[in-house]
Amino acid sequence: MTLHDQHVHTWFSNDSQAEPAENVRQAVSRGLAGLTFTDHFDSHPTEWPLCKYDYDGIAAAVSALRKEHGDNFFIGHGIEVCYQPEQTAKIFDYLDSHRFDLVLLSVHWFYGKALHERQYWTGLDPVTATRQYLETVLEAARFALDLKRQGRRPFDVLGHLDLVKRYTMRYFNTFDIRPCQDVVDEILRTCIEADLVPEVNLSTLRQSLPEPSPAEWIVGRYVKLGGRAMTLGSDAHRPEHVGTGVAEAAAMLKRQGVELLAVFRGRQRTDQPL
Ligand SMILES: [Zn+2]
Ligand SMILES: [Zn+2]
Repeated sequence: MTLHDQHVHTWFSNDSQAEPAENVRQAVSRGLAGLTFTDHFDSHPTEWPLCKYDYDGIAAAVSALRKEHGDNFFIGHGIEVCYQPEQTAKIFDYLDSHRFDLVLLSVHWFYGKALHERQYWTGLDPVTATRQYLETVLEAARFALDLKRQGRRPFDVLGHLDLVKRYTMRYFNTFDIRPCQDVVDEILRTCIEADLVPEVNLSTLRQSLPEPSPAEWIVGRYVKLGGRAMTLGSDAHRPEHVGTGVAEAAAMLKRQGVELLAVFRGRQRTDQPL
């Protein structure tokens, strides 16, 4: 198998207790070719004091695991950067002064609200939240495109582009993205132009949703708009979830006409046939 799980958290994330070695063991036992650790870099003022992105700690874990596994299994050192347009100086300082295999850009905050905090959803309906979230994802993709036009490419992958549905499901028992196809299409077009690879994130399948993020129809739209490669990520916060659903998602990508898996090493992208 040549599949890579390029979205995995460890105990270097505030919301995970997973031991890096346990994650690798699980990925190897699932027959994957590699995984990339993408611990959180959360720079929102309310989360920054809790963010424990320990670069040296992660680098040491990656180095020891690479020694143990040799060339048989790829172990990447990535980072999941939360889109915070008011913290760009802090984010770029960090990215410019550290080496990564992959930089994942993810939207967790929209219109001043955190997806994962129930308190921000008071008075919010699922239709409005879905559109506002997707508009913020579009803003993040346009941010990457503007940077590309200036000759900079700080981000490789756009994480879980319709993740809002995990929370509309949790709070309202509904997850309809289709009414926002106009915004979704614009996100996909912008990603293609910005060389930002959209991820298929499998965490929604563990949260009572019947589809990954984004949904299969969105993968179909991506292909129609000219997209060719995507990444796969379990977004595991526990070792037993590493690699979960990756093989099924790869089959879904092929079914929709995505033939390539983008794999990042040292910020260099290789497109591998699925
Ligand atoms: Zn995320
Ligand atoms: Zn994540």
